[in-house]
Amino acid sequence: MQSLNERVFIAGHRGMVGSAVVRRLKAAGCTQLILAERSELDLCRQEQVEAFFQRSRPETVIFAAARVGGILANASQPAPFLYENLVMAAHAVHAAWMSGVKRFLYLGSSCIYPRDAPQPIPESALLTGPLERTNEAYAIAKIAGLKLCQFYRQQYGVTYHSVMPTNLYGPGDNYHPDHSHVLPGLIRRFHEAQAAGKDSVTIWGTGTPRREFLHVDDLAAAIEHLLSLDDPPDVVNAGSGHEVTIRELAEIVAEVVGFTGEIRTDPDRPDGVARKLTDSTWLRSAGWSPRIGLREGIAMAYEDFRARLAGDRLRTV
Ligand code: GDP
Repeated sequence: MQSLNERVFIAGHRGMVGSAVVRRLKAAGCTQLILAERSELDLCRQEQVEAFFQRSRPETVIFAAARVGGILANASQPAPFLYENLVMAAHAVHAAWMSGVKRFLYLGSSCIYPRDAPQPIPESALLTGPLERTNEAYAIAKIAGLKLCQFYRQQYGVTYHSVMPTNLYGPGDNYHPDHSHVLPGLIRRFHEAQAAGKDSVTIWGTGTPRREFLHVDDLAAAIEHLLSLDDPPDVVNAGSGHEVTIRELAEIVAEVVGFTGEIRTDPDRPDGVARKLTDSTWLRSAGWSPRIGLREGIAMAYEDFRARLAGDRLRTV
């Protein structure tokens, strides 16, 4: 942000990313955050989006609204993953431009990159090969969103740009037993196995795929930093630079939860892409670096999980 008094609209403020951004900007002293509940603004309805932008007149937009989910949700519901993510981005970018928004930061995902991209994946790998099948619908929507930003910037001179985070986790994650991403899925499964005194836990797939994880508070810092830059690139990666196999991840979760039984794999479940390590050289050279290590971050996420479970506030969408 150029100033703490700017009117900043955070789309998707109830989600894990949006709520982390709200925490970060409030702590930084931002005074004019614009937030909208879904009951007052459905981003899939164009007329509502246009009326909202005309009425609330944001100067900066952080677009963290999305239908998100893990490998099973993505693969089994490709229609809403493509449709909702596509129209939400199209409505928001166009309404922002029509109402005079000068700055728009769009949240994408590292799954936009080709399945066989070089590792670590540089931003230049975009659209150089076929996508991973299990999340193709989400990736196509996110590619369309980042291209909207790029082309509105190119044609109209507005600073609309995108950040591509790696696999995220942290407070407020989705703990649905089947539709969540791997880390919240494992936190829940190991917690329940531990509580029930089970002697084994089964993880999906072979356990050999590698994933890079970034705590959502580190992403919120990256977002704040990117918005302070005058002329950022169209697309910037944000990752921790550290990858683990799914089995190693399960071992860390087991240790944090205190589960000492056996960890089994289920090769009949899909593995997804083999590796997805982002190259965040640009963002690091611009002055950002992640602060929260994986084990420490998982311990924090587990605390949040337990507090929400105890308060009946666990998100399971
Ligand atoms: P992806 O990064 O887009 O593939 O999405 P996920 O976070 O859903 O899955 C990452 C990897 O973790 C895949 O190889 C999954 O098969 C594996 N995995 C292992 N156990 C689980 C689980 O309980 N839930 C999920 N979502 N993935 C799991």
